[in-house]
Amino acid sequence: MRIGKTIYLDHQATTPVDQRVLAEMLPYFTDSFANPHSLDHKPGWDSARAVANSAGQVARLVGADSDEIIFTSGATESNNMALLGLGRRAAGGNRNRILVSATEHKCVLAVGRVLEEQYGYAVEEIPVDHQGFVEINALEQMIDDDVLAVSILSVNNEIGTIQNIEKISEIVRKYGAVFHCDAAQAPIAMATGSFAKYADILSLSGHKMYGPKGIGAVFIARGLQAQLEPLIYGGGQQNGLRSGTVPVPLCVGMGVAADLLLGKDADENRKELRRRRDLLVKRLKESRWRVSENGPQGDARHPGNASICFADFSAHDILGALQPRLAASMGSACTSGIPEPSHVLRAIGLDQDAAEASVRFSLGFSTTDEDVEEAADLIEEVLERLSKAELVRSS
Ligand code: PMP
Repeated sequence: MRIGKTIYLDHQATTPVDQRVLAEMLPYFTDSFANPHSLDHKPGWDSARAVANSAGQVARLVGADSDEIIFTSGATESNNMALLGLGRRAAGGNRNRILVSATEHKCVLAVGRVLEEQYGYAVEEIPVDHQGFVEINALEQMIDDDVLAVSILSVNNEIGTIQNIEKISEIVRKYGAVFHCDAAQAPIAMATGSFAKYADILSLSGHKMYGPKGIGAVFIARGLQAQLEPLIYGGGQQNGLRSGTVPVPLCVGMGVAADLLLGKDADENRKELRRRRDLLVKRLKESRWRVSENGPQGDARHPGNASICFADFSAHDILGALQPRLAASMGSACTSGIPEPSHVLRAIGLDQDAAEASVRFSLGFSTTDEDVEEAADLIEEVLERLSKAELVRSS
């Protein structure tokens, strides 16, 4: 997978739109463009049917019913809607604590701060171990009947850790709290067909799963929908939870993307992804420099994620020197530009130097063996070049 001549290894930041997704979207920009909320004519009904069909496809991806799917602008909005929605509705009640894992996406942590500062909640971080797994014992000790919600992401966007949401759900439900799970990275990493059984609210993002940007979804269990205050008020679309005309082509794209991930070849694609990821890691570990992997080994890791610490170098220097031949990132795209080490890498115990020496390579379904071999050659070449320029850290 290349963008022009650049080898693209940043699929966890965003994926390309699958050609089959794009093909199904196109007619809804021009031919079938009617407002899906126009109930007085057939073109409107046709658009409404397309949206309902897309909601059904997204629902199937997580094992939900279509009336439990609300389209949003992306996982950031879904996460905001979930936690602010619950928090604002329940403010001043008996449940005044919220638990979030220490390695949540920044948008969850930021909402947590708003809920503390503006709504009086105590938002507490559940620690993770050195591989990024939520400390189950800590969760058991922290949770009680005064907890409103627990928010834990399914698959980490920086280090690929896959949480045991089945176990987490069991604990959270014992105390009657709401389990919100940010599943933005999950559909590529694993089969998600049982997710709605375990989580009460799930967040998804179109552009992380070969769908378009600007669309996401949130699954909210039917019985819980009345307990959320909307973020956006207006015409009452989408069960009154998210007013505004839904973007039909984007919904169609997200639906088709979901459908493709339910295809027979999805597991095989994930296996191939893991094989190529392992090949990249093996090649990098064979270099003469100090190279180690952040995050877990084996199946409990996103199959396309390789978070690599190059202890002798700075990630910033490596990524810069790789331009324009290879695209990877420091970690979360949403935080790059902010000169502070990743909170995820710090939470799993890396010191500031190791965090600043870490690069996230994320492969996709269309990454080839040739891309991987060439990427490894390029990285080695860059490390040699940086070492000659004396951009090596002393150990
Ligand atoms: N959660 C996770 C785990 C993510 O990886 C991302 C994207 N970096 C988001 C939320 C935000 O998603 P979106 O870009 O769709 O707003």
